[in-house]
Amino acid sequence: EAVSPASVPEAAPDDGAGLEAARKEYAELRAQGLSLDLTRGKPSPEQLDLSNDLHSLPAAGDLRAADGTDTRNYGGLLGLAELREIFAPLLQVPANRLLALGNASLTLMHDAVVQALLSAPPGGGRRWADEERVRFVCPSPGYDRHFGICERYGIEMISVPLTGQGPDMDAVEELVASDPTVKGMWCVPKYANPTGEVYSDETVRRLAAMPTAAPDFRLFWDNAYAVHHLTGEPAELLPVLDACEEAGNPDRALVFGSTSKITAAGSGVAFVGASAANVAWLKERLLKQTIGPDKVNQLRHVRFFGGTDGVLAHMERHRAVLAPRFAAVQEVLEEELGGLGIAEWTRPAGGYFVSLSVPDGCASEVVRLAKEAGIALTPAGAAFPYGKDPRDREIRLAPSYPSVDEVREAMRAVAVCVRLAAAEQRAA
Ligand code: PLP
Repeated sequence: EAVSPASVPEAAPDDGAGLEAARKEYAELRAQGLSLDLTRGKPSPEQLDLSNDLHSLPAAGDLRAADGTDTRNYGGLLGLAELREIFAPLLQVPANRLLALGNASLTLMHDAVVQALLSAPPGGGRRWADEERVRFVCPSPGYDRHFGICERYGIEMISVPLTGQGPDMDAVEELVASDPTVKGMWCVPKYANPTGEVYSDETVRRLAAMPTAAPDFRLFWDNAYAVHHLTGEPAELLPVLDACEEAGNPDRALVFGSTSKITAAGSGVAFVGASAANVAWLKERLLKQTIGPDKVNQLRHVRFFGGTDGVLAHMERHRAVLAPRFAAVQEVLEEELGGLGIAEWTRPAGGYFVSLSVPDGCASEVVRLAKEAGIALTPAGAAFPYGKDPRDREIRLAPSYPSVDEVREAMRAVAVCVRLAAAEQRAA
């Protein structure tokens, strides 16, 4: 179960001996000359190998889709119907409103934001670029690249805390109800980056139903980890488009996803799903942007998976590779930091990250100490709007890429850095 980083309890005052011991441990760590990287949530080579057969598909004589479409030629603006059928149940969007497009969902999110800036979305009177201010609600810590899109286009970000069940809904409802400049909200509803939490049914219902001052308010529903389970009991997420429709706000959500962490990161297929009105709006842009997506790659994915069950079976193979790495994080952190009162961390049931909370004001120091000892961690604050963690306490750990042994080694090293940073702070 994913737990939200609760406040880290006050540690006992230091008598000096703790600091000396922590300094000695750290000096020994540095002497080891480690070189480990826990920065980005990339699939490991072992995971990428799971999809090796993909790359020799489709066979030379097998380039036609079921409806006779020659995938090598122009056309099929909204993507191959067969692939959309396969992913529709996984992304909880009806196939006729789920578009299979390019190679990266981040591009689709970026383009949807830019399109809203330049071309009024359904329900909105005018382009967002014509508003004096545009603001987005940003549950934090969150995905740095979402926040990067806002920063690039001058969209102001308003942080709201996460609760372990999704964003603090009282805070979100208050913000969107009173302020028409709040046009959007970033949501990673399942196995969130980086806290691992899954939005509860109540959270999804409240997001779908809440009154918004902006008539064209949008949830950017980035379901990047829809099928990326780490346990045998996949979490269930309420389908947001259905919830929005039931609440009388059918156009509220744009759903995104991709196969980046299913097949090949950067060479997969990305999806966007929405209401009929939103799909028509997206289509207006697509018609000018392209004559059609890479259907050969889409057919390759159809042949590789065979069907929705094929995707789920494939994700079980990913789980077999990933789960031991995540278990190693939990084991070592528990051994090294459990019960010390200086750290807490999430226990995600899916996704790619663990979020480690250290005493307020210590995260940057932990990351600095780790760097000097050869362990690259995501910069402190990166998971917050404008790169600033107001309490300087969250550290995102990405254990997918290194081997299990490297993960253990890295976690032991991180623990040494946390103990030193906490001891230094207590002694100060
Ligand atoms: N969304 C989230 C929440 C992610 O964590 C990531 C990658 O780490 C992405 C999107 C990137 O997806 P894509 O490769 O489809 O652009």
